[in-house]
Amino acid sequence: MAEYEVIIGLEVHAELLTQSKLFCRCSTKFGQEPNTQVCPVCLGLPGTLPVLNSKAVEYTIRAGLALNCTIADISKFDRKNYFYPDLPKAYQVSQFDLPLCREGYIDIATEGGSRRIGINRIHLEEEAGKLMHAGDNIVGAEYSLVDYNRGGIPLIEIVSEPDLRSPEEARLYLDQLKSTLQYIGVSDCKMQEGSLRCDANISLRRKGERGFGVKSEIKNLNSFRAVQRALEYEVKRQRAELEAGATLIPDTRHWDEERGITVQMRTKEEADDYRYFPDPDLMPITIESSWVEEIRATIPELPQARRERFIQEYQLPEYDAQILTVSRELADFFEECVKEYADPKPVSNWIMGELLRVVNPAEDGLGALAITPTHLVSLLKLIDEGTISGSVGKDVFAEMIATGNMPEDIVAAKGLKQISDVDELMAIVEQVIADNPKSVSDYRAGKTKALGFLVGQVMRATKGQANPQKVNELLVKGLEG
Ligand SMILES: [Zn+2]
Repeated sequence: MAEYEVIIGLEVHAELLTQSKLFCRCSTKFGQEPNTQVCPVCLGLPGTLPVLNSKAVEYTIRAGLALNCTIADISKFDRKNYFYPDLPKAYQVSQFDLPLCREGYIDIATEGGSRRIGINRIHLEEEAGKLMHAGDNIVGAEYSLVDYNRGGIPLIEIVSEPDLRSPEEARLYLDQLKSTLQYIGVSDCKMQEGSLRCDANISLRRKGERGFGVKSEIKNLNSFRAVQRALEYEVKRQRAELEAGATLIPDTRHWDEERGITVQMRTKEEADDYRYFPDPDLMPITIESSWVEEIRATIPELPQARRERFIQEYQLPEYDAQILTVSRELADFFEECVKEYADPKPVSNWIMGELLRVVNPAEDGLGALAITPTHLVSLLKLIDEGTISGSVGKDVFAEMIATGNMPEDIVAAKGLKQISDVDELMAIVEQVIADNPKSVSDYRAGKTKALGFLVGQVMRATKGQANPQKVNELLVKGLEG
């Protein structure tokens, strides 16, 4: 059986976080009533003229710099012509031969080491409107509605080189790309709101071959999981076809999430002809290098650099550093904590264990959270001082998240103070010894495991409030005495 190599390239669309649209002053706010954020310009009415939003150009350059691209001196906008109801002008303003950014890269950390994935280009274009079909899908829909609120929102398209070699690498690339765009504040990258979307190109070739195989394009993948699953399916499908001796045809496919398969939408013989031409209403833009340098100066430390610094500066394992730097907010939260608490590893453990159990920083952000770094630091200090045990600490943490109350107040209000008083503990220890003769004789016969059970019984009797170290000491004393 022939060995195949997988070739993947990704096209990622990210909506920019500008306040207003690309060519008019309409709001870009998400989730408003349909068609309330529209004007003659973004509806493409005759006689209107677009005015370029310079913030969108700035954000595109910002993205280009963060992704190691060369920024163009001169760039222009072109009309991409096609007829579809979500596009009232019957053309989309995009960039054809002179995009704003070219030739960048992203380094991804694979199991086999770091791999550099090329970025071919980043261009700026306008978003289309949104169609809603009555019924389950476009085929057989009784009617369709269109919402133009989204039409005209600035969008960047980031086109990778075909450098990705597995669905897993594609996911790593997307993770890294998403967190970079979020760090630099140009996009919120919310896939569930459609502000980040992905198309994937995939082909197979025999190992050692130089040319590319016949490729399929999978459109509109709307979650990272969908990207990975769709690509995994395509690898299997294309390999099976090739092994059966079939001739593949370049095509465009749709990922059917429910059935877990890709479905052919059209073959490339019917390829779209967009008849690009320069937009006569928009002047070419000259980009001053001084402006590019000003933008460069505002770029914060990026995820990869921050991850490496976390390993160096705080002696964290790579795994911890990776997770903590997924979002800028989370990394800031961690660093705020270690400013007030000198031991980074427990801080990292509590964030990764308890905090990330209740919040997903990539999706919801930490903004809605009722607790601050001071809350976590105070809790860690209470544990260190022996005021509460680690296990009670977890309950206090949950209460803190729910109410935003300080841990001291929760401990006081709920009477959760750790019991370290020897007399008080000894009475409970003696009771447990008396109640569990089997475990006691096991322990005395050399089965040291029995001690763990007895410690557990004392902890249970004190609702987790006993100081576990003291319980251990007293039990050993009681059993051997
Ligand atoms: Zn408008």
